[in-house]
Amino acid sequence: MKTCSPATTPNRADFGFDQPYSSLGSEFFSAVRPFGLPAPRLSLVSEDASRLLGLHLESTDPEALQSWAELFSGTTLPAGCEPISTVYSGHQFGNWAGQLGDGRAHLLGELAAPDATQNCGYARWEVQLKGAGRTPYSRQGDGRAVLRSSIREFLCSEAMWHLGIPTTRALCLVTSSLPVARERMETAAVVTRLAPSFIRFGHFEHFSYSGQHAALRRLVDWTIARIDPACADAANPALALLQGVVARTARLMAQWQCVGFIHGVMNTDNMSMLGWTLDYGPFAFMDGFDPAHTPNTTDRAGRYAWGRQPAIARWNLLALAQAMLPLLGNPQDAMDAVAAFEPQFSQAMRSQLQNKLGLGAPQGGDDDLVDAWLAAMAANQADWTLSFRRLGSLSSNSDSPIPETLQSLFTTRPQQFQAWVADYRQRLRQQGHADAERKLAMDLVNPRFVLRHHLAQHAIAQAEAGDFSAARELMAVLRHPYAQQPEHAAYAAAPPQDAEAPALSCSS
Ligand code: AMP
Ligand code: MG
Repeated sequence: MKTCSPATTPNRADFGFDQPYSSLGSEFFSAVRPFGLPAPRLSLVSEDASRLLGLHLESTDPEALQSWAELFSGTTLPAGCEPISTVYSGHQFGNWAGQLGDGRAHLLGELAAPDATQNCGYARWEVQLKGAGRTPYSRQGDGRAVLRSSIREFLCSEAMWHLGIPTTRALCLVTSSLPVARERMETAAVVTRLAPSFIRFGHFEHFSYSGQHAALRRLVDWTIARIDPACADAANPALALLQGVVARTARLMAQWQCVGFIHGVMNTDNMSMLGWTLDYGPFAFMDGFDPAHTPNTTDRAGRYAWGRQPAIARWNLLALAQAMLPLLGNPQDAMDAVAAFEPQFSQAMRSQLQNKLGLGAPQGGDDDLVDAWLAAMAANQADWTLSFRRLGSLSSNSDSPIPETLQSLFTTRPQQFQAWVADYRQRLRQQGHADAERKLAMDLVNPRFVLRHHLAQHAIAQAEAGDFSAARELMAVLRHPYAQQPEHAAYAAAPPQDAEAPALSCSS
């Protein structure tokens, strides 16, 4: 294990990166130097993510700010820091894509968290720069990330975390005037991402399909040690690891579905072994509910549309299981492990929807009631976030009018909706909970604020003009997605009529 110590220590006594991944062997990575940015500026900081590592990036001291900007753009590295980019392969849009790898990610190394109890129990975090220039895995790419996509990744990582959805974190965003060519000329930025591990399904596919099975075993042992140590005691540790990934992925998919999140590019190289959300590209939170919706304009067939995400996750898990076959022994065990996805996902989804509708303990007929709610939402293209949130204000009393704010979301098929409301109220009355109590419980699981596309676009437009205050304010609102925050009501609203629908490409 290599350890380095910094040339300057901005404000963390033990500041220094370990690079244990390199001990896996030279076939796992390439040593790289990030290219840095000219005149880097520390434009956005997540104080929550900084605290995770015991860093103080919110400093107002110009010298400290400058040294953070230089470090987290890869412009000036601490002495002894030995960054790497890792190699992986993957299936993209259902096809084997061969070798990919960190084409614009530089792993600076790991930092120890000062207080693991605060950090979902993870004592060590990998620190990765995204967008700091070409690596041996860049292929035709320039190794850069533009400001627009970097702000989206930064804001969404932190927003997801505060929603309670497992995700890689974003420590900070460093910007510069370096021009980058995409559909138009843009400028470069670097996001620093944090995760206990950035290992993807594609890492396993890489070593399996290139016939490097001894390396595959080392990768399994490494992954178990880092993210699921209990598997080491199982009769078949590789199988236990696979079972764990299946369970974590099933939970994650239920969480994505329930918050209306569409990842956009669920290729196997974008799937985390931790079961965390990874690689924010053409993602979106749905406004109007359409199960066939995807914001990714590159995905013409809608392979990664909202309604297909669970099935795609299962497909990706099958690809992972197949890659792990050389270590699993019995193919039937692999099939059985992946077959557990469907019941685990359905159970998680049902239980979350039950809570989102405030139904308490399940009763016969609940599944039909939930399905009819989703059907009514789809028939009206009702706003996903507002529908659930406003349903909390509905009185269980049949004589009370349906609040106008709720009814107004269901104007295409109002009668279908009113019939559903009658059934729902009857079910609520059987349960016998006070309406106020139910609303409180529903508000805890139905966010009022999500990173809607039009909000992100506004923050991006301001930032491209050099003003990051809108991005900062948006981030502050998204830190408390379930709170009412009446002073920020505008952030809870559906997009204005003339707002452009999310149309994003993989170009970022
Ligand atoms: P993605 O679709 O963003 O998950 O990327 C797929 C592959 O392309 C990964 O190997 C990325 O590292 C690589 N990649 C994406 N954008 C770039 C870029 N601008 N420069 C170099 N590699 C890139
Ligand atoms: Mg990716």
